[in-house]
Amino acid sequence: MKVLVAVKRVVDYNVKVRVKSDQTGVEIANVKMSMNPFDEIAIEEAVRLREKGVATEVIAVSCGVSQCTETLRTAMAIGADRAILVETTEELQPLAVAKLLKALVDKEQPGLVLLGKQAIDDDCNQTGQMLAALAGLAQATFASKIEVADGKATVMREVDGGSETLHLSLPAVITADLRLNEPRYVTLPNIMKAKKKQLDIFKPEDLGVDVKPHIKTVKVSEPPKRSAGVMVADVATLVAKLKNEAKVI
Ligand code: AMP
Repeated sequence: MKVLVAVKRVVDYNVKVRVKSDQTGVEIANVKMSMNPFDEIAIEEAVRLREKGVATEVIAVSCGVSQCTETLRTAMAIGADRAILVETTEELQPLAVAKLLKALVDKEQPGLVLLGKQAIDDDCNQTGQMLAALAGLAQATFASKIEVADGKATVMREVDGGSETLHLSLPAVITADLRLNEPRYVTLPNIMKAKKKQLDIFKPEDLGVDVKPHIKTVKVSEPPKRSAGVMVADVATLVAKLKNEAKVI
């Protein structure tokens, strides 16, 4: 069984994101970029499935600018067997990514497609769901446990106030939540090995997909500044302030 894993190149989660002066988006020039953390979890899960003998091949896919090859090399250093870059300088919105992934699902025929539950840059939480709909596949989002056997995946997913267990017939789309696993550290020998692994590059036109954006960002602005807090001497003063000043108790 092949597993296709979508990995997005995003601003590193440690970077303090700044809004561009013209408020058209966030600054990404000269900013450290990394793999979306939920996608790292998705790759780790796919590699564990291959190590258990459930999957035979793990293919990492990224859509975007040529620098996404770095993200794909990281995915291959974690353990993906090969990678595909769909290269474009167009702004990619979730529907466009879902269409590109659908074209690759048709081409590669994976038994399982893994994505992150959301990208930490746009926070859309849409691509996996859109892909499942376009490809007519079963889907389980926010997975915290995945087991695959007998052509079925059993997925535990995090829902408000508890967890839900689903059986999906394969092929299926699953999106990874934070507690699914803890990704391994990438070692130097594996980084070196990843350099030699196969990386194919397509353009959206090669896959017959029009990636033109349908949504225009009108304005991006920073959250309002919060005023500084004050230190209080003791609990009694805190309670008095909450009662008399904040009037919340
Ligand atoms: P989103 O719907 O934008 O929050 O993204 C959800 C997931 O879709 C991400 O965690 C990735 O697995 C996948 N994804 C989104 N955009 C891309 C992209 N440009 N390239 C590869 N995967 C992507």
